[in-house]
Amino acid sequence: MKTSASQKSAQSWDQGLPEQVCFRVTRHCNARCRFCLAPPDGAHPETGTLLHRIDWLLARGVTIFHISGGEPTIHPGLAALIEHIYAQGGKPRLTTNAIAIPDTLLPVLRTTGTLVKVSLHGDQAHHNQMVGVRSFEHTQRNIRRLVEAGVQTSIQTMVTADADWVVDWVADFCLTLGVRRLSILPFIPRGSGVDCKDEFGLSPEQRRSLRAHVKEKRHKLNGRLDIRWLDFNARPIHVVEADGSVVLEAATNAMDKVLGSIPVSECMTTIINSIRDKNEFG
Ligand code: SF4
Repeated sequence: MKTSASQKSAQSWDQGLPEQVCFRVTRHCNARCRFCLAPPDGAHPETGTLLHRIDWLLARGVTIFHISGGEPTIHPGLAALIEHIYAQGGKPRLTTNAIAIPDTLLPVLRTTGTLVKVSLHGDQAHHNQMVGVRSFEHTQRNIRRLVEAGVQTSIQTMVTADADWVVDWVADFCLTLGVRRLSILPFIPRGSGVDCKDEFGLSPEQRRSLRAHVKEKRHKLNGRLDIRWLDFNARPIHVVEADGSVVLEAATNAMDKVLGSIPVSECMTTIINSIRDKNEFG
């Protein structure tokens, strides 16, 4: 039997998935960052749906799952998802604003060796302004809890125009708390960030200067703190969206490429059909 062109392309997009993906478990969030790369869009899949997507991705060679959102800690199935990835031989990673870390999550993060990256953007006033809610105290306290619980914890910091002082502030904060890795993200105009690019966007000169500052700091703190430059402009990233679509995310939304969608499991299809039948005939 011959394969049509559309069948070929439908077959091919999921053959070349990379070893690691960004895996969004929700688009709900308890913060309101003005620069948010993935602002709320209403998508909040059930745990069963997410478990199916994990299995589907594992079967295609994905092993490292960078769990993100929205804010993943507000998904009630987060611990189960992490345990499932680990039990199936995958490697869970978690990016969180750490506003709320349930007690029950800490041992799961530790025993599964999950690397946790917490977003912290500067001192109290600056951080609260950046995330749009008064969360600094919660985030700071939860970073301490993570470190004390033996969870491998790093910090990531978004740096906007004229705010490169936060590099020094957050580096000191890491050293004080015993955090060993810091990722510096220069602002990029994606998601909600498109609306504030005139205010937050770095000029080429500011970007060069910030990069040089980070390099100098990295050199100075070598052996005590691993400071990284994390530039989303550098190369496209495979993102599994909360609605199940798989997107190759580039520097801007306009450059993104939707590769396809993870099919709904047969089990889920049966459930959906039975709900439809009930609605239509019951
Ligand atoms: S950047 Fe993260 S913490 Fe901030 S609103 Fe977006 S999803 Fe929430």
